[in-house]
Amino acid sequence: MMSHDSVSTQGQSIGARVERFVRDTIIPFERDPRWTSHGPSLDLVAETRALARNAGVMTPHMPAGQHLSHRDTALVLRAAGLSPLGPVAVNVAAPDEGNMFLLSKVASPEQQARFLQPLLEGRVRSTFMMTEPAAENGAGSDPSMLMTVAEPDGDQWIINGRKCFSTGLDGASVAIVMAKTGVGATMFLVDLPHPAMCIERVPHTLDSSMPGGHPTSRIENLRLDREAVLGEVGKGFKYAQVRLSPARLTHCMRWLGACTRAQEIASEYAVKRQAFGRMLIDHEGVGYMLADNRIELKQSELLIDWCAGVLDAGSLATMESSIAKVAVSEALFRIADRCVQTMGGTGVTRDTIVEQVFREVRAFRIYDGPTEVHKWSLAKHIKRETLARLAT
Ligand SMILES: Cc1cc2nc3c(=O)[nH]c(=O)nc-3n(C[C@H](O)[C@H](O)[C@H](O)COP(=O)(O)OP(=O)(O)OC[C@H]3O[C@@H](n4cnc5c(N)ncnc54)[C@H](O)[C@@H]3O)c2cc1C
Repeated sequence: MMSHDSVSTQGQSIGARVERFVRDTIIPFERDPRWTSHGPSLDLVAETRALARNAGVMTPHMPAGQHLSHRDTALVLRAAGLSPLGPVAVNVAAPDEGNMFLLSKVASPEQQARFLQPLLEGRVRSTFMMTEPAAENGAGSDPSMLMTVAEPDGDQWIINGRKCFSTGLDGASVAIVMAKTGVGATMFLVDLPHPAMCIERVPHTLDSSMPGGHPTSRIENLRLDREAVLGEVGKGFKYAQVRLSPARLTHCMRWLGACTRAQEIASEYAVKRQAFGRMLIDHEGVGYMLADNRIELKQSELLIDWCAGVLDAGSLATMESSIAKVAVSEALFRIADRCVQTMGGTGVTRDTIVEQVFREVRAFRIYDGPTEVHKWSLAKHIKRETLARLAT
């Protein structure tokens, strides 16, 4: 069992149920051939979700539609992440989890009934479309470079542009599309599939846990009624911030669960495997790798819990989530790398999920803000703080 203190008994009990479900029911699906390089197939998602529903662990972080505290969410999502297939099965995976959070905060009651409710029930999937192709110098690390444009036309909007890395777009039922509207940006809710939105390609990527992959698409004369606007016109960047801090942290939670499992697998290898007359773990080089992992897993857990506490106190936690995202994603990458190394050749095979966890956490150092972008914005904060202190 994973450790947990200062969380509610409800959070502990849900976390324990999710952990049992993932260990007993989901881990056996890890070798299922329907898990492709673009993520688990639609029928694999449907089958594992049916099992989650039966076990009473569907969308476990939002029981009866009410979001658990971020501290409790950490417990539940770490448990779900013990298998890279777990978050999708219990419906706490990206981007749906972040989209459900955003819709619960910003969408109108009508939009919630139409778009949020089916997501909560785990019946559909969604996508979040902000990033644009680098070759066209669209929005990437710098969202203000947005090139997709929404223009008013009477009571309607017409959207044109190209998007990429829209996780889950293939097979999703709803998209949140970010587009430029005058000086600001606006989020739009779009029913999918839509004839004005066409997937151009689904690139092969390092990671493979997210259904629907990360497609590149073209949006051509997409005509939407004004009811499609999520929240208010011009507040897209503000809402992106509302979504991003918790979404960054939930990635940390899920991948912490995955690295915890990778450490379990590597530790078992190190006590079963012998070399030079003793167990691998008794060789200092191997023992130290596993000890370093234990230390960094604990540090990651504490950083996540600290940032979750800041969010629970009502802050946007912009700076805190940057600190947590950088520290945790970089630590998890080192942890996964040491697990691979501990297991020698077996570590690079697909015989265990250690190889996949290593690939997944490599990508995590880029999405939801590359490490360098977070450090750059922290440096700007330090500069402001220091200049203000010197001025007093
Ligand atoms: C697996 C995956 C899933 C994704 N899912 C989604 C999704 O669902 N929806 C979506 O909209 N987007 C998604 N993205 C896109 C992701 O958010 C972007 O890749 C990310 O914002 C970086 O943008 P970019 O790829 O254009 O890199 P670029 O903007 O080209 O940046 C390249 C590198 O430049 C450096 N850099 C940039 N700015 C600075 C700076 N200020 N200081 C120092 N260094 C800097 C960083 O090292 C960065 O990695 C996903 C990406 C991946 C890999």
